[in-house]
This record gives sequence, C-alpha cells and structure tokens, in this order.
Amino acid sequence: MRPIHWRRIALTAALGIVAGAGGAMRSTAADEPDWAGARERMVVEQIEARGVSDPRVLAAMRKVPRHAFVEPALRSRAYADGPLPIGHRQTISQPYVVAAMTELAMAGPGSRVLEVGTGSGYQAAVLAELASEVYSIELLEPLATRAAETLASLGYERVHLRQGDGYRGWPEAAPFDAIVVTAAPPTVPPALLEQLGPGGRLVIPVGRGWQELEVHTRTPDGFDVRKVFPVRFVPLVPGKPKSAE
Ligand code: SAH
Repeated sequence: MRPIHWRRIALTAALGIVAGAGGAMRSTAADEPDWAGARERMVVEQIEARGVSDPRVLAAMRKVPRHAFVEPALRSRAYADGPLPIGHRQTISQPYVVAAMTELAMAGPGSRVLEVGTGSGYQAAVLAELASEVYSIELLEPLATRAAETLASLGYERVHLRQGDGYRGWPEAAPFDAIVVTAAPPTVPPALLEQLGPGGRLVIPVGRGWQELEVHTRTPDGFDVRKVFPVRFVPLVPGKPKSAE
C-alpha cells in the first residue's frame, strides 16, 4: 500500500463523510428497487475507485444488503456515498470507510475479529463474510437489540453480540486476529491492544473531532503504528465504571 495514494484517498473519504451525498435508486421492471445494481455501482464508483482492491472485501461489499441495516424511510439512500443516521444520534458509516477498515483488518478465513461499536450491525456483517467468528460490542441497548434482530434475520450466526462498554474489549473471547473500532476514543484503549494475538491488527480512529485512522500491529517486540487517513467518527463513549453497573 503506497502512503501517498492513501493520503489522496483520505481527502475524498473525508469529503464523502461530510457530504453524505444522496443517490438515485433505479427500479427493476417489477418496480422492486435494484439493490444488487446499486451495490455494484457503490463498489465500482466509491470503493474500487478510491483504491480498495482486496477481492474478498469487494465481494463482501457486493453481497451484504446494506439497505436491511437502515430504517425503511432511508433505504433509497442506503448505497449513497455517505453515512446515514441509525437513531440515538449514531450513524452507519460511509460504505468506503467500512470497506477500507475491513481491508486494513486483513481478516482471513479462520480468523477471529472483534468490532467495537456494533451500531446497525452492518460492519459486523461485512467482517463476517471474511472471518470465521466476529464478536461485536455495542454500548446502547436499543441499538444492540436491533442489530441482533437484523443479523439473525439475515442468517449471520457467526456474529456474537454483547451490550456493554467496548473500552474493555471482550477478554473471554480474546485473542483476536483483528479489532475494528467504529467510534473514536481520545487515546487507544490499552485493553484492546492487550487482546490482540501475535500479528494482530487494531484498526481505530483516534482523537477528538476529526480523527486519524490508525493501525496498530502486534509485533514480537511491541506494536507497529501506522496512521492511514483522516476520518470523522462519533466518540467512543466511556461506559459506567464497574462499581456503578
Ligand atoms: N459499525 C456501525 C456504526 C458504528 S457508530 C455500523 O456498521 O452500523 C458507533 C457506535 O459505537 C454507536 O452505535 C455507539 O453507540 C457505539 N459506542 C459508543 N461508545 C461505545 C462504547 N464505549 N462501547 C461500545 N459501543 C460504543
């Protein structure tokens, strides 16, 4: 991966996130929206065009029905080049950002992946197309419940969900080959680094306001850290201390 290229992609991504551009849906003859066609255009125009090239990631983005993860009133915008609201002041991330983070996680067959910030469950579903087991934690109970229903209705049985505070990770299921964090803490939570297996990767936006997307890779001597591109995520909200639960 060439850093200069990523830098250019980064700006495009950032603009996409802010603009949240809408896209017109075409319909098939039976007047059923052409979801597969919309996904194909999303992959070609938003994701491949910005440099995501892993065929397994592109196949997952072509397959997962993003429109099933947003409320009916927003479905016609499900494949547009931006984030969408999912209630409780949270958003489902822009398709390109989901694809780029999945590519950076490098989740191969047989891998175990943790996601922090389940939200709608869409990123978890995309990860489940590549990994063998996906664990995902969501702080807000109503979102966790809805994501569980959506994922079950689509048959994603290898996604394990928990309502709780992602700052602590999921120690019982560790170690992970990859951890993908889809909300931004001000600094990297130590528990997440501890739960990476050898060679494991933590893909995480770090900072307040605008953040840098960072990849921390566990090496034999510690961690290799790489900043990838600027992003804008909702904050990773600290959960209640254990004694207050
Ligand atoms: N990955 C999601 C989008 C995530 S939005 C998707 O594909 O739809 C970020 C999510 O992180 C929100 O749902 C928010 O409630 C959740 N969140 C915020 N702080 C958290 C914490 N401490 N632990 C777990 N989830 C948290």
